[in-house]
Amino acid sequence: MTLDTLSRTCYSEDHEAFRSTVRRFVAEQLEPHAAKWDEDGIVPKDVWPKAGELGLLCPTVPEAYGGLGLDFGYNAIIDEEIGYGTDVATGFSLQSDIVANYIIQYGSDEQKQTWLPKMVSGEIVTAIAMTEPGTGSDLQALRTTARKDGNHYVINGSKTYITNGQNADLILVCAKTDTDVQPAWKGVSIVLVEANREGFKRGRNLDKVGLDAADTSEMFFEDVRVPITNCLGEEGKGFIYLMSELPQERLGIAISAQTAAQRAFDMTVEFTRDRKAFGKPVLDFQNTRFILADLKAKLQVGWAHLDWCIARHIKHELTPVEASGAKLWHTELQGEVVDKCLQLHGGAGFMNEYPIAKQWRGARVTRIFGGTSEIMKELIGRSL
Ligand SMILES: Cc1cc2nc3c(=O)[nH]c(=O)nc-3n(C[C@H](O)[C@H](O)[C@H](O)COP(=O)(O)OP(=O)(O)OC[C@H]3O[C@@H](n4cnc5c(N)ncnc54)[C@H](O)[C@@H]3O)c2cc1C
Repeated sequence: MTLDTLSRTCYSEDHEAFRSTVRRFVAEQLEPHAAKWDEDGIVPKDVWPKAGELGLLCPTVPEAYGGLGLDFGYNAIIDEEIGYGTDVATGFSLQSDIVANYIIQYGSDEQKQTWLPKMVSGEIVTAIAMTEPGTGSDLQALRTTARKDGNHYVINGSKTYITNGQNADLILVCAKTDTDVQPAWKGVSIVLVEANREGFKRGRNLDKVGLDAADTSEMFFEDVRVPITNCLGEEGKGFIYLMSELPQERLGIAISAQTAAQRAFDMTVEFTRDRKAFGKPVLDFQNTRFILADLKAKLQVGWAHLDWCIARHIKHELTPVEASGAKLWHTELQGEVVDKCLQLHGGAGFMNEYPIAKQWRGARVTRIFGGTSEIMKELIGRSL
């Protein structure tokens, strides 16, 4: 089974031709190392330039800044092929779908010239640091400050759960440049911080329930000085930028969730066909067929919805509320699929040597990061 057997409606022939390049890369460069990287808790940095060489990082970066100037459909294909071809969590989508977008949309020409070509080539790895030990969902309450001192900001605070945290060379730090202004969101800015700045320290590579190879870290900022030209876009507009760009992050998570659910489903069909109980394949029990039939129908609906979202996003028409709906629905579907598929594996499902165990562990977080399911409902609810 591959993703080719689904009749997709959001992609052109060029998109689909690109798919084979990604698939080959996943099979040759990622999947063979999955076990080692999971054990290490990190994907080594030297994989990034290999992805960059094939155009698999930040495909939407304009040609003027070293990119291919393609549409979001190419990001989606990369997310799908990685999600379907391996359980390794690479952190590529964080760079391609999220960080690159902020710099493309709001960066100065100098920031674009400095960072985008290196992000495209994989020479550097990036992260975005919003969440803090004291706040995640409520971003207005963040406590990290970037205080102006002459032509510099002095940054103090700490961040946690930051994807690519150990590997990152450049971090987009959300900080308060004004702690007095009301409403509080008007004081939030996004500041680019190079990891070699004095006073910046990485904390632990956190021990997670799943996504073992993704380095997720604490970060500490103690009087870190950066020039005020490192502010992304306008000072005090950070919260508005986050609200404008989070939909793409949420769509990316929805794509990965739907794809990972399809992978778990396909593997379970194979497993239950081979596994015998009471003298017949587990797939032959009516209960198994009904569960899988139900999931197959939901996956079918899911693909149709996802194609609609991707097509709308390529045309820049997907609304924040629609993106929240997509993240909510596809990640909840993923949770249902992996849980039911694990059950159909019996005891093998609880053994880490079977992929479904890893998929079940990894799926749990998609309902949490990028905004929890509850926050998605809040956002959708506000549109009523
Ligand atoms: C593996 C992983 C990777 C991550 N990567 C990054 C990253 O790269 N960068 C980054 O900045 N962050 C990252 N995060 C953080 C992630 O985005 C947050 O964990 C998430 O947004 C939830 O915030 P929180 O953990 O503070 O939970 P809290 O906000 O404390 O929420 C706790 C519970 O309260 C609920 N809740 C909160 N507010 C409301 C409300 N208004 N109504 C109803 N229920 C509510 C939540 O839904 C949740 O169930 C990552 C997290 C993980 C686990």
